[in-house]
Amino acid sequence: MTFDPQAFRAEFPILSREVYGKPLRYLDNAASVQKPRVVVDKLTELMTHSYANVHRGLHALSNEATTAYEQARESARAYLNAASPDEVIFTAGGTDGFNLAGNALGQHAIGEGDEIILTVMEHHSNIVPWHFLRERKGAVLKWLDVDEDGNVDLDAYRALFTDRTRLVAVTHQSNVLGAYTPLGEMARIAHEHDALILADGCQATVHGPVDVQALGVDLYVATGHKLYGPSGIGLLYGRKALLDSLPPFKGGGEMIDQVTKENVTYNVAPHRFEAGTPPILEAIGLGTALDFIAAQDVEGLRAHEDALTGHAIEALSALNFVTVYGRQEGKGPVVAFNIDGAHPHDVATILDRQGVAVRAGHHCCQPLMERLGVSATARASFAAYNTHEEVEALADACRKAKDLLG
Ligand SMILES: *Cc1c(COP(=O)(O)O)cnc(C)c1O
Repeated sequence: MTFDPQAFRAEFPILSREVYGKPLRYLDNAASVQKPRVVVDKLTELMTHSYANVHRGLHALSNEATTAYEQARESARAYLNAASPDEVIFTAGGTDGFNLAGNALGQHAIGEGDEIILTVMEHHSNIVPWHFLRERKGAVLKWLDVDEDGNVDLDAYRALFTDRTRLVAVTHQSNVLGAYTPLGEMARIAHEHDALILADGCQATVHGPVDVQALGVDLYVATGHKLYGPSGIGLLYGRKALLDSLPPFKGGGEMIDQVTKENVTYNVAPHRFEAGTPPILEAIGLGTALDFIAAQDVEGLRAHEDALTGHAIEALSALNFVTVYGRQEGKGPVVAFNIDGAHPHDVATILDRQGVAVRAGHHCCQPLMERLGVSATARASFAAYNTHEEVEALADACRKAKDLLG
């Protein structure tokens, strides 16, 4: 089995549509990824055949839905290589995972004067929940700088630890620079200092399975809509012993053991953290998406993404009016750039008219924008269904934008 980019692309019905009479070149995958036919079909099958609430009914449909929901949890366990499905919590997305973790840790493990280490390239969803703990609990945020390519200096990282460090909250892969952090090393160093480490895997998980045990992280967040799955679903991995020690975040059905007028006791993880009717369809759709990616020749898939990234960096760098941000060796398929003298929003609008969909703005990374000395960038980001022809279309559309704006 070798990865066949054309066959892979053919699995995505939406990619054959046009916009403004031009073929769609969807290069906004770091914002959200399109869905393969297996996921679309799975959702249709569920809604037309096996839909009911989970964990509650004793009837056939509820049993089928519950089995499918718990199978999806097993797919997520396998994809992340968690030790047990009990370590995988279904959330409503990436942001929801950080807020769950922040709330639980804030009630339990982080208080006045306790320190949290973050890098300056974090996504706002891995910043704001920690600002909440700064505002509400008196926690202290300590910032680790990165270089222009997003590389972390491990000595600078080590130097941030004190005996008050409780948590490191760090991205696995930047959604702007594409850079990977040395997450395994960072986890080892955090544990040397008896601190917990939570990683943002919203980008890093998209290029094939990851191994949370080998990385040695305590908590790990992923989001379904970037993993070829539905929106409104995400994953929070947590080590079992840690999850068992954390209080629930949301209260309601299913997360309880017993409720009386005087008292409440809680279910075990992961159910303790899944209050109410969960996103049933979304979770099962995500499980299907994860099985679909894991069944690919993942090395071939990554090699194709790498080739697209290299091609895009080369093609854009060859334009003497373009600045490219982030050139870490082996980085993920995200290429942020600016056209001299043009606002990235205008650039994105002109590209859009050529059928080229990119993102422009601060990408929910204002501290990183400050670090790079810009207020915004355009960003092309690739998935394994993109083509080299689309990279050329991007470069052509940038020439056009320069003609119109420069
Ligand atoms: C998308 C993203 C998030 C937020 O995930 P949502 O599912 O949109 O809430 C967090 N971190 C990174 C790196 C992301 O790319």
